[in-house]
Amino acid sequence: MGHTLALNADWQPISLLPLSSLSWQDAIKAVYLDAARPLHVYEGWQVKSPSRTFNVPSVIIFKDYIKFRRGLGYSKDLLYLRDGYTCQYCLKVFPSSKLTVDHVIPKSKKGGTGYLNFVASCEPCNFKRGNDTRIQPKTKPYRPTYHELVKKYRAFPISIPHESWKEYIGWEENLIRINPPSGEPGYTRLETEPERLAKKLGLLDDE
Ligand SMILES: [Zn+2]
Repeated sequence: MGHTLALNADWQPISLLPLSSLSWQDAIKAVYLDAARPLHVYEGWQVKSPSRTFNVPSVIIFKDYIKFRRGLGYSKDLLYLRDGYTCQYCLKVFPSSKLTVDHVIPKSKKGGTGYLNFVASCEPCNFKRGNDTRIQPKTKPYRPTYHELVKKYRAFPISIPHESWKEYIGWEENLIRINPPSGEPGYTRLETEPERLAKKLGLLDDE
């Protein structure tokens, strides 16, 4: 998760899966390049270039509406989310580090890849099942929708770096944990002027 929540021109996060956030460097660049404006800042966290001081923003809003494709590519994290971090064989909930992807129709039997053939499984169940297709998952694999996954995502606790994100992200208060960025000094010195930094990162053309 980045330091700065990135809102679209309609005041909604640009994306929810994952939550659109930027590193403080990219957030300052977006503001400096006039693509976005800061809505909230970190108290006491400033960065200095040789000529200017910036408050690190915790939330920025983009000036132009950014069209975001709602199509869902396959990812392991989204698969686990679809299955509620629940092993589809023993129905116990696990952290994602303890889950594996099980091919419902095994590779050896020409099972496909992706949402239509994968389910979340704990390691012991995956091992126990092997290629035995008589053991079937509780829920048949299916392609989730964007809205379904957003709803499921919001049912889990979330850790955010700043209080100001709360009003924009749509999570229940009791599921939110504030985890401020650690190890960031009160002041950070930018090595270069923002223009040079932006050029280095390909955001501005060298003329
Ligand atoms: Zn299991």
